[in-house]
Amino acid sequence: MRDFTYICPETIDEVCQLLSEQENAFLIAGGQSLLPLLRLRAADLSCLIDINGLKNANYITFENQQVKVGPTARHAEVAESETVKNHCLVLSQVASHIGDVQVRNRGTICGSVANADPAGDPPVLSALLDVEIQATSVRGETIYSGSDFFQGFYATNLEEDEFITEVRFPKISSPTGVGYEKWEPSEGAYPVATVGALITLEGDLISQAKIVTGAIEPGPTFSEDAANILLGQKPTTELITEAAISIGENSDPIEDAEGSILFKQELMKTLSKRAITTAVDCAQGGA
Ligand SMILES: Cc1cc2nc3c(=O)[nH]c(=O)nc-3n(C[C@H](O)[C@H](O)[C@H](O)COP(=O)(O)OP(=O)(O)OC[C@H]3O[C@@H](n4cnc5c(N)ncnc54)[C@H](O)[C@@H]3O)c2cc1C
Repeated sequence: MRDFTYICPETIDEVCQLLSEQENAFLIAGGQSLLPLLRLRAADLSCLIDINGLKNANYITFENQQVKVGPTARHAEVAESETVKNHCLVLSQVASHIGDVQVRNRGTICGSVANADPAGDPPVLSALLDVEIQATSVRGETIYSGSDFFQGFYATNLEEDEFITEVRFPKISSPTGVGYEKWEPSEGAYPVATVGALITLEGDLISQAKIVTGAIEPGPTFSEDAANILLGQKPTTELITEAAISIGENSDPIEDAEGSILFKQELMKTLSKRAITTAVDCAQGGA
């Protein structure tokens, strides 16, 4: 590995200045994705900006009907936060199943959103909930919307001199419900398939339906066909099954060591049925 400069700034302004001046600069937050990359000598790095020394960056607050997560808030802290459990339970549930305890104790939601790993859980949830992603640079602040932030394999709309200073999750409560399911080959491993479902009910009928899949595509992917099957209908078991089958049949996985195309399509059907059912239960006021 070639030599690089290590800098540990204390303010957001310093980080912005460094990002605008330094070539081949990488931020490090939890290091759970970056360190394996550096170990493989796969990153052309000349400056490492450690944001763990930032003052007032490790926070989880609730304001304006949004759960706000700061850039050094760890997955474990998000999972355990009463604020998150009270206002966006699915975020707590997702964070509590990321990797293993070591990964959760270091990894961050903001880092995960910025990294846009196709198998990452926070990107799928961020697209589904259409979170607000606050990016900061010397040019000021930009708010990206989670539903169109992810641009495929490890790609986002983030500019090179920007970094994520906050991710804001909306409060979720009945008559809106969210379900999230994933399958991982062993405990603590990256998921092979993920599905998030968001359902809003108006009376007996579904007035909003969003399905986002992950891990089997290069990035979070909206299943429009399944959403259209659900919209305006009563959420019966038959309807949910029809939507889940459509998600599986329309998915386009690759065959690899984790399973065949058929296996992954069947997996998507099962996970989708569970996620939509949970979302409907929550929308109806269930846990
Ligand atoms: C064994 C293992 C299992 C895992 N399993 C899962 C899993 O099941 N689900 C899952 O979702 N993830 C999983 N992960 C990944 C984990 O969630 C990481 O925490 C996450 O991918 C990145 O967060 P981080 O804070 O560690 O980022 P880092 O590794 O520090 O950084 C990752 C990238 O994001 C950039 N970055 C970091 N913070 C910011 C910021 N605020 N703004 C802009 N860019 C930034 C860095 O420059 C780098 O390019 C796993 C990791 C490991 C090692």
